[in-house]
Amino acid sequence: MEKTALCEACQKNEMNVVEASNEPKQPYHLCHPCHERLLTYSLRPIEWYNLAVLHSPKQFLLHDDFYGEDGQAFLAEDDVVVTKRGKAPTLQAIRHDLTPLLDFSITRWFLEDDVIDALKQHDQQKLLDAVQSRFDETHHVEVKSRMIEITAGVLGTSAAGWVRELLDQADEEFLYPLSWAAASSLPVDEGLQPYSREIEIRQRKRKADRSFYLPAPFPFSQYIGLDGISLHPF
Ligand SMILES: [Zn+2]
Repeated sequence: MEKTALCEACQKNEMNVVEASNEPKQPYHLCHPCHERLLTYSLRPIEWYNLAVLHSPKQFLLHDDFYGEDGQAFLAEDDVVVTKRGKAPTLQAIRHDLTPLLDFSITRWFLEDDVIDALKQHDQQKLLDAVQSRFDETHHVEVKSRMIEITAGVLGTSAAGWVRELLDQADEEFLYPLSWAAASSLPVDEGLQPYSREIEIRQRKRKADRSFYLPAPFPFSQYIGLDGISLHPF
């Protein structure tokens, strides 16, 4: 018998509504009450958290205009009832368990030192396996980018093989976060190589006019004599 799919938000009720997210390949799968709460910015903290784990908090309906990092609704159009079990997990509560910790890292707007420090306490090979699985399972660019950020901030040279694979795929969307992973995992010459053409084009453009853009900050700046110039994201 086929297993009933559960609502992604409450993870209790049967899923029976599909609502578009910002990623066409990965919509929200919800029960009716959670769907209603999503559309009225009235999710309970744990519901917001569960959705943020899967879709990232950067989706419009989960955005920080509407919810705090603990899942508290700021602009709820309906009453939000929060029981003790309806609260979102804290870093302190889940830092020793790898899967929940990786979940938590996705729900943060930025990957900050407290989460990096907690991730560093885990076995690096297990973390790399978990990061790669999460990257492959999701369609969301933000979730994939967070996995690359963790690779850059935590895994270093132990992730060199995977970083090479990602650079070979040359996906434009990940060019910038990958530059950090390349800087942290690969020798400088090898890490910088995929960016050489881009840098050359931009340097030529700099001579042609005054607008010259590289990511801000760009991890290899010190090696290509670009310190101190105006840098902007790709
Ligand atoms: Zn639900």
